[in-house]
Amino acid sequence: MSRTVAFIGLGHMGGPMAANLVRAGYRVRGHDLVPSAVDRAAQAGVERAVSAAEAAADADVVVTMLPAGHHVLGLYDDILAAARTGTLFVDCSTIDVADARTAHGRALAAGMRALDAPVSGGVVGAEAATLTFMVGGGEAEFAEALPLLETMGKKAVRCGGPGAGQAAKICNNMILGISMIAVSEAFVLGESLGLSHQALYDVASTASGQCWALSVNCPVPGPVPASPANRDYRPGFAAALMAKDLGLAANAVRAGGVRAELGLRASELYAAYAERAGTTEDFSGIVRTIRNQSGEQA
Ligand code: NAD
Repeated sequence: MSRTVAFIGLGHMGGPMAANLVRAGYRVRGHDLVPSAVDRAAQAGVERAVSAAEAAADADVVVTMLPAGHHVLGLYDDILAAARTGTLFVDCSTIDVADARTAHGRALAAGMRALDAPVSGGVVGAEAATLTFMVGGGEAEFAEALPLLETMGKKAVRCGGPGAGQAAKICNNMILGISMIAVSEAFVLGESLGLSHQALYDVASTASGQCWALSVNCPVPGPVPASPANRDYRPGFAAALMAKDLGLAANAVRAGGVRAELGLRASELYAAYAERAGTTEDFSGIVRTIRNQSGEQA
């Protein structure tokens, strides 16, 4: 296999994803605005491109892994003209659904092909190539990208047309944010009622309260030894990233006139929590804020 991949955005996620492509035999030409990110990727065998446009010029596939929608759209404006007609643009960043659709449209108008392919699985999944990709775009483009996505992850699901991957990502993370708050509130309520964490866990994890936020990422130490609560809430999935994803969900809720009161409230609560917890605390640490504020109210 001799495919050449341009990889733009070699940060926490993009760096190890690009390294996995190199390991699998792809020729990867990388670019990032931060020189230390390029240095790390180069150590893993990624070739340095002097600019994103240069990386894209001789690529079969352009993968982007950038912070937000405006970065993706700005970059597409810079590089679409440089790429060969028909190049496949795969954006793995988590961005607004509307921005993803705009990116698809600009790529198509420039004679390119496009997919949105955000991921779940975090930095650990990026390093271990166990990411899940949620993909929006055409069936032919998905089929073409599949070997590349399966090199960087364990699963890729085509969710529909342009933007559908981003839509699936923010809907899933809205469930997750709301359920983590629900589980945390239940533990704090249990504490006030004299119920032990283990007792509530043993009941809810095998009853109708069961969910990932409880049984895998349990927000209190003890019942699930591998959960971030047992290591002073080191991430895991950082509070700031949950706040970002819920912000995207809230934008879509408002734009669509959807009555998602819990989703909007979860977005507000995580925005406030992330201001303090940032990227250093797992999103399950919100249980401590709920507990502290309950104390204030008592
Ligand atoms: P990051 O900040 O570590 O990396 C982003 C990189 O993009 C940075 O190195 C930055 O310098 C680079 N960049 C920005 N604009 C650029 C441009 N115009 N040209 C070249 N490089 C540019 O972020 P990350 O943690 O790797 O996350 C990337 C994306 O993945 C985000 O959209 C995030 O929401 C999503 N995501 C992250 C995680 C996670 O656990 N970190 C999990 C799932 C999804």
